[in-house]
Amino acid sequence: MVQEIAVYAAGQALDAAVLDAMRRVPRHLFIPQRQQPHAYENRPLSIGHGQTISQPYIVALMTDLLRPRRTDRVLEIGTGSGYQAAVLAELVHSVYTIEIVAPLAEEARERLARLGYANVSVRTGDGYKGWPEQAPFDSIMVTAGADEVPPPLVQQLKPGGRLVIPVGPAHSVQYLTVVEKQADGTVRSRQVAPVRFVPFTRER
Ligand code: SAH
Repeated sequence: MVQEIAVYAAGQALDAAVLDAMRRVPRHLFIPQRQQPHAYENRPLSIGHGQTISQPYIVALMTDLLRPRRTDRVLEIGTGSGYQAAVLAELVHSVYTIEIVAPLAEEARERLARLGYANVSVRTGDGYKGWPEQAPFDSIMVTAGADEVPPPLVQQLKPGGRLVIPVGPAHSVQYLTVVEKQADGTVRSRQVAPVRFVPFTRER
């Protein structure tokens, strides 16, 4: 799987540490039994509740764009299976991850604990509001397609920090966007690649 995505990324030179982290995380343990034969194919897979575990290449690309450092405290919105959180946990100091579908959050919490990822905290809730009690974060990753960059997330980013988020209409193409918060608090955004994510939903 990693060999295949490294080829996809030829023009882009994904960080070797990111690819190594993905070699260490057993993707087959993050998906339902019936999907397991496909675990190491470069495509998204259903994880139930209408949600998906992202395509491995997209996980690698988003992780790379975050520029993870050993000392970082990272927030992820959209825990899903917990796979992306595990990849991040291999690379940074601690990961805080929020999932709006309670049973998915519960499953991911158990799974990550079973696999020994002691540096990941999972919480059920609407990630739009971020995790103020643990803010500020060195970087933030959103793994659902949002129609805007949630202002609370920018607020909870350290100066110099980065936010990676797919922005665009639901059920359509979004643009993977990197938002960089400058030292003076202003933000600079750039679009990296077209992607298709499950929708970012809001608590009603
Ligand atoms: N990162 C996941 C893939 C996530 S799919 C993995 O590695 O498996 C996107 C997830 O975002 C879904 O589980 C969906 O329920 C969740 N989600 C959507 N809107 C959300 C919100 N406002 N807050 C938190 N989670 C959200």
